[in-house]
Amino acid sequence: MKKEDIKEFFFRLKKANPEPKCELNFDSPYTLLVAIVLSAQTTDKNVNKATPALFKQAPTPEKMLALGEEKLKEYIRSIGLFNSKAKNIIALSKELIEKFHGEIPKDVDTLQKLPGVGRKTANVFLNTMYGLPTFGVDTHVLRLGNRIGLAPGKTPLEVEKNLQKAVVHVIPDDDLKYVSHWLVLHGRYICTAKKPMCKQCPVADLCPKIGVKE
Ligand code: SF4
Repeated sequence: MKKEDIKEFFFRLKKANPEPKCELNFDSPYTLLVAIVLSAQTTDKNVNKATPALFKQAPTPEKMLALGEEKLKEYIRSIGLFNSKAKNIIALSKELIEKFHGEIPKDVDTLQKLPGVGRKTANVFLNTMYGLPTFGVDTHVLRLGNRIGLAPGKTPLEVEKNLQKAVVHVIPDDDLKYVSHWLVLHGRYICTAKKPMCKQCPVADLCPKIGVKE
């Protein structure tokens, strides 16, 4: 995609949703990180139903450890993959206490080594919590990066790096923190995996539609 097209592409997505926000409920860095870990392969709405009671009981790593894995499972049973998520959240809380005095690290490389975190979660956390221009690459961003020719790549890391190259110094700095949100929303509602709605798409004239069968 040419620089002018990239600018116009994000200008139009911005027009539709000027300041997209994370839909997960949280009230501290720790509760945000736990909510993001819980949100893997499920909806934010589903996570938001379970977390008020959980965070009332366990709003810190210390209190989560005191709650313990078995009781944690009771709070998150309605969420997919709750067994492995409970295990990770307990391991994550333990590591935060033992290595970071209960604080959440503020850099991607350290964050992504925590149990259950990984690079996408680390990027989404830093972006949501501190408004940093990090790019979480989920299934939507991976698909769109390739389909619209904005950030081609076979792996999330490749797409993340190419996305960074494509948008930094091209779109306004203040908009960088919204790039992943805009792509996720566009992928969720318009440029869907199976049936992209090219006829209704506001950026159709800018898009090469790579791999799309019309
Ligand atoms: S034109 Fe089609 S393929 Fe391109 S972004 Fe829009 S919906 Fe996706």
